[in-house]
Amino acid sequence: MTFSVHGLAVSRGIAVGRAVLVASSRVDVAHYFVEASAVESEITRLRTARNAVVEELQRLRIDVSTMSPKDAPQELAALLDVHLMLLQDELLTGGVKYWIKDRLYNAEWALTTQLEIISRQFDEMEDAYLRERKADLEQVVERVLSHMKGAVSPVLAQGLASSKKARRQQDLLLDDTMDVPLVLIAHDLNPADMLQFKQSVFVGFATDVGGKTSHTAIVARSMDIPAVVGARQASQLVRQDDWVIIDGDAGVIIVDPSPIILAEYGFKQRQAEVERSRLLRLLHTPAVTLDGVRIDLLANIELPQDAAAALAAGAVGVGLFRSEFLFMGRATHTTGKGGAGGKSGRDSGGQSHLPGEEEQYQSYKRAIDGMQGLPVTIRTVDVGSDKPLDRQHEKSAEGLNPALGLRAIRWSLADPEMFLTQLRAILRAAAHGQVNLLIPMLAHAHEIHQTLALVDEARRQLDARAQAYGPVKLGAMIEVPAAALTLPLFLKYFDFLSIGTNDLIQYTLAIDRADQSVAHLYNPLHPAVLRLVADTIAQGAMLGKSVSVCGEMAGDVGLTRVLLGLGLRSFSMHPAQILAVKQELLRCDTGKLKNWAQEVLAAEDPAAMVGA
Ligand code: PEP
Ligand code: MG
Repeated sequence: MTFSVHGLAVSRGIAVGRAVLVASSRVDVAHYFVEASAVESEITRLRTARNAVVEELQRLRIDVSTMSPKDAPQELAALLDVHLMLLQDELLTGGVKYWIKDRLYNAEWALTTQLEIISRQFDEMEDAYLRERKADLEQVVERVLSHMKGAVSPVLAQGLASSKKARRQQDLLLDDTMDVPLVLIAHDLNPADMLQFKQSVFVGFATDVGGKTSHTAIVARSMDIPAVVGARQASQLVRQDDWVIIDGDAGVIIVDPSPIILAEYGFKQRQAEVERSRLLRLLHTPAVTLDGVRIDLLANIELPQDAAAALAAGAVGVGLFRSEFLFMGRATHTTGKGGAGGKSGRDSGGQSHLPGEEEQYQSYKRAIDGMQGLPVTIRTVDVGSDKPLDRQHEKSAEGLNPALGLRAIRWSLADPEMFLTQLRAILRAAAHGQVNLLIPMLAHAHEIHQTLALVDEARRQLDARAQAYGPVKLGAMIEVPAAALTLPLFLKYFDFLSIGTNDLIQYTLAIDRADQSVAHLYNPLHPAVLRLVADTIAQGAMLGKSVSVCGEMAGDVGLTRVLLGLGLRSFSMHPAQILAVKQELLRCDTGKLKNWAQEVLAAEDPAAMVGA
């Protein structure tokens, strides 16, 4: 039966495919496709972990049987029997093998998928006792997952998650057996998970949680696949293999669509294709307004290889390279208690695996080379908030408010060694092209002073090593209201500013950008936000310093006119948005928009005037 689930539209387009559910587990699990040749080793890994748990439980069972009833109540023995039985149940083991063999899921993903399926069957049971066995099943599965954690999959170790080989394998599988596109449905995906899927086979995705500018949504936009977040119950309502339409324009997921609905969406997909090819004709058209003002359209990227998409979309440079994506999903354990301890780039006892200087240098160089002489703005690491380094880091912030915590430059300044490692890598990469060094989330004069001192120190260290490095322009992100209200300080010390509207809105309006329950209050056109953006652009222009916007506002065609009217001349966005924004600005006259933008700025309800 057809039904729909509503959420937030975060990445445009229509995707139709069979649902692949990523179940959420209390244990941190990786999700990736393996090659057919790795199937046996995945099954062995699983079997080894399961046998270890069986042995563990059997030992416990023997211990329990030798204890007095006072120390070990009868129920404990019965419970262990249930756990042992569940572990060896064909429904679990056979099902898991199916996901590995037939769908090429890695062992952990296969296990959590099958757990989800069986859990739903438990939920539907009439008998309360049997229903409660679901918790037992979850416990044994988590035991197995914990065992597997100790033994990293050789597939993952080789980084096959995103390799072309694995993709080809998956393509072959689809061609041979199903020949259907897949859409991903999950309770939540952190940005590191998203990266794993970035070069995967999915044509769309939906999550239960997330806001419009959450980092998961941002990565979805960069993948240029239709996506819906904040769809609350989606991962509970959709079943594995259901046919699903993801309507990324309306923010709706349609499950089990009827033939009439499928035909209607097929028509919409074709229309979107026509629009795409129309936009492509603008690729070589200069981004100049009707009154002859040249506008810089730059790209936001997450990984060095994204430079190719930036060039292909006609970007005149990278306005924001979110370097944190090189840091995420790597640490296996934390050593500190949510503080800065143990996270330096050095491998402290095998506990922390942040990228070292050479690895970072190669990554930045790759992005610079990829841009073929165009400028690349590298932002120093911005982890924290909804971009945890890994699951442990996420847990350490539970109960606190990570958006207001040790994030971005605060995190870097708390670990000068780690920060210096990154600065040296960026400075060295700058010897190969035009590099702008961008610092996130500054708010205090002392943070500026400390940052600049560390940049000098990084140069001194490279001098001492007689290592080559290049010049960089230094920029500050304006994304905390405190910064937008003390612009002269920032203009004094920095060569350029970049407005991070995603955070500026979050912090100005006191709305967690990742929280769908307050998503309706997240308003880029709130007069306070517009005022801060307008002042930053105007004060930068007065001193002849470049100001760009690199938050999601820059790629929203509904806001292009107002930003142009406020004097913005540099927009940085996902490559997929560049041509649509270009189409819009080609129709604009900045002279005419200037007065209108001042009226918008003074309006009680700017959205009504902008029509966005
Ligand atoms: C922003 O805050 O607008 C921004 C571009 O940075 P991020 O989205 O990575 O926080
Ligand atoms: Mg930001």
